[in-house]
Amino acid sequence: MTTRSADFCPYCGTELAHRKIDGRDRQYCESCERVVWRNPVPTAGVAVVSDAGVLLTRRAIEPGVGDWAVPGGHLELDESPAAAAVRELREETGVRVAPEDVTLLDTFAADGAGGKRIVSVGFAVRREDTTGDPEPRSEVSEVRWFTPESFAETDAAFLPPHRERFERAWKWFGRE
Ligand SMILES: [Zn+2]
Repeated sequence: MTTRSADFCPYCGTELAHRKIDGRDRQYCESCERVVWRNPVPTAGVAVVSDAGVLLTRRAIEPGVGDWAVPGGHLELDESPAAAAVRELREETGVRVAPEDVTLLDTFAADGAGGKRIVSVGFAVRREDTTGDPEPRSEVSEVRWFTPESFAETDAAFLPPHRERFERAWKWFGRE
């Protein structure tokens, strides 16, 4: 499996050919005699919500440098989505919560960097169920609590489709 379009077989290095399978053009290795599937990459994130709003991170890396997002990132090979979401939250903001204490919120599919497609599993948690003071850490330039009203008062922009996740988290908190 590859996450971006490949020129050579990731298993044996042979230049890839094309074959139509299941109505789609697939990359095919004639040496291995197998399809090199291209699939989306799983990611996960968690929205921490309090009376002050939803905790957002300002991105210091592509895609969307300077845009705001719900904390999150890629799953390690042995991680559950919830474990990945809380690890990314800790790495990006210093806020800690146990994976079993977050609630499934939503999923989305979106374009990632460099022609990659991602699938994101979103969780939510109340601030009182977390510990640690938020501060910008890995891959983040700023952290801030936003309500829909306070966000609208700034010239800040969301990394799409994080606006929808942000709004769902706020609704989940009961502050529609
Ligand atoms: Zn091959």
